[in-house]
Amino acid sequence: MNRIKLLPEHVANQIAAGEVVERPASVVKELVENSLDAGASRITVEIQAGGRSLVRVTDDGFGMNRDDALLCLERHATSKIRRAEDLAAIATMGFRGEALPSIASVSRFTLTTRESESQSPEGTEVIVNGGKIAEVKAAGGAPGTSVEVRQLFFNLPARRKFLRTEETEAAHIQHYLTLAALAHPHIAVTFIKDRRPVWQLPAIKSGADINERLSALRERFRGLMGEVSLINVDFTTALAVPDELPDESFENATPAGGSAPSSSLNPPPSFRVWGLIGAPGVSRGNREDQHVFVNRRPIENRGVNFALMEGYHTSLMKGRYPVCCLFLEIDPAAVDVNIHPAKREVKFHREAEIRRLVAQAVREALQKFHAVRTVPNSPKPSAPVIATPVVERTAEPIELPNFSAPAPSRPTATQPKTEQPALKMGFAPSATVAPCPAPVVSPAAEIQSAIGHRPSAMPAPLLNVPLRLVGVVGKLYVVLESDRGLVLLDQHAAHERILFEQMLDRLEQNQQAPAQKLLLPETIELAPRDAQFLKDQLGPLTRLGVGLSEFGERTFLLDALPPFVKVGDARRFVVDLVDELKAAGRDVNSARLGEHVVAKTVCRHAVKANDSLRGAELENLVEDLRRCTMPYTCPHGRPTLIEMNYRELEKKFGRIQ
Ligand code: ADP
Ligand code: MG
Repeated sequence: MNRIKLLPEHVANQIAAGEVVERPASVVKELVENSLDAGASRITVEIQAGGRSLVRVTDDGFGMNRDDALLCLERHATSKIRRAEDLAAIATMGFRGEALPSIASVSRFTLTTRESESQSPEGTEVIVNGGKIAEVKAAGGAPGTSVEVRQLFFNLPARRKFLRTEETEAAHIQHYLTLAALAHPHIAVTFIKDRRPVWQLPAIKSGADINERLSALRERFRGLMGEVSLINVDFTTALAVPDELPDESFENATPAGGSAPSSSLNPPPSFRVWGLIGAPGVSRGNREDQHVFVNRRPIENRGVNFALMEGYHTSLMKGRYPVCCLFLEIDPAAVDVNIHPAKREVKFHREAEIRRLVAQAVREALQKFHAVRTVPNSPKPSAPVIATPVVERTAEPIELPNFSAPAPSRPTATQPKTEQPALKMGFAPSATVAPCPAPVVSPAAEIQSAIGHRPSAMPAPLLNVPLRLVGVVGKLYVVLESDRGLVLLDQHAAHERILFEQMLDRLEQNQQAPAQKLLLPETIELAPRDAQFLKDQLGPLTRLGVGLSEFGERTFLLDALPPFVKVGDARRFVVDLVDELKAAGRDVNSARLGEHVVAKTVCRHAVKANDSLRGAELENLVEDLRRCTMPYTCPHGRPTLIEMNYRELEKKFGRIQ
């Protein structure tokens, strides 16, 4: 007896649906992707009961004729690829030809479509119930396509039971739509939930020019997320040709079953990273506001996540995650999107190289944020003025930031959830919230426009505007005044940042950091494991001015310290150092960040000045901070400065609403 039988079509579809249609959000994703592939300029998504009772996606794309409207419900029917080779270079969102038949097999499904090219006003409507075509008829309606999915999983009670609450399902849908809306600012997106509009995002015109794309993205981001202080990223490079690659990143460079790897005769493929990332100090407690796209497809990739953290490095507090919307543009042949049925995960053929370049893109953007060349100006000082400096620090060319976004249409400063723990005084760190446009035009903004840069949606970075010293409170917080309002500086955090960068500079120039010999060298005995760990760190520690040497199996001799470190208890200092380094080593890729981590840890022991600094010392502190590459956070990512502009002050005092 023959045991093997081909599965009936509708059963096969239901099985495929198990992979493609996990929940209502997957339906939304597949339908919206189809609308995108159909060249829509307007997409409307309506849901009811978290998408369980209704998902309807309507577009004004090219639509389908009657034959295609029927064919698209067959499995593996697609207009997007024709040959297996096409898989190696996919430029559309869909290609598997599985979504529509899968969704139709597990819902009550209506497809209404009208070809936009055709002269006839007649369209087609196909009604499918649980995979069985119930009706095909002529229909009117606007050109484009509308797909209505009701009662998802009505014929699969087991699957229906696994759906979460309406709110959870709706949140998944909203998350996906956020990604889609960010990736396509030129498309108008409307989202209606239980008959109430959640967003009505207008289409934002932008050309191919990167500045236009960035400002369109900025506007779309603001429309979705409100005001968050963001900086531009634009980084292009050629990927190394295979011969130049270190072995590890070359593994797997040939796309499976795809075209041949780029030979050295062809120009090396280019790689671009562009988008927006949170300014120093902007972060979240989870990865929810981390939006990463590869060729406009939202993706998950651990390597890229690491790269982001690596790029922020000391600008991010422990346990915090970047806020970003980053687009990676790469030759489709260099990335595999077909490793996950819902195409959520991607695999780069050169994972290590991509990771390194993304980190570099983020790092350079953060550094540029501060490296603005502004000229000293002369406001009328009523108190000592700490003038805006001409930043001239490194040999690298200093570039003006290109904040090309138009001025914000509504000057609100809604405080986003990305807020960091407020300092004692209850102010929010300025860096987390985009400061409002100043009541008075800040001199820095004037300078920017004078040299041909439109004042951007983002006010000039705080350290690029003149600051007047007002005083010190709590022996720790320096109170400053700018034309925009009140500024507070955390003396310790600033000091730590300055020392840290000085140490790194010396390390880079292969110089020994100054060390002060101790009058009485001390011997310190450690537990065997700690001793072994410390032995591996002796090199960087010595270069940083911590004079530690082996003095027996588990004993060390401490005979020098950096001048800014004062320790009462030498053993305690060394044990703390070991503990902190161990803890830090778990978080970071310690092989590569070794010296940075050590420097960061040593700086933590900078003298906590109990007596407040005075006039000239404070001015020096601000000047030194200005010279730093990443002045807005201490090496551990805590803010060094917080700002409260006049608008916020007026709000607090109830002068304005
Ligand atoms: P895929 O997107 O992988 O090709 P789908 O099952 O999602 O597979 O869609 C099948 C085909 O139906 C698509 O290739 C496309 O030709 C057509 N199609 C689906 N949705 C739309 C739409 N909104 N507008 C125009 N054509 C569509
Ligand atoms: Mg599709």
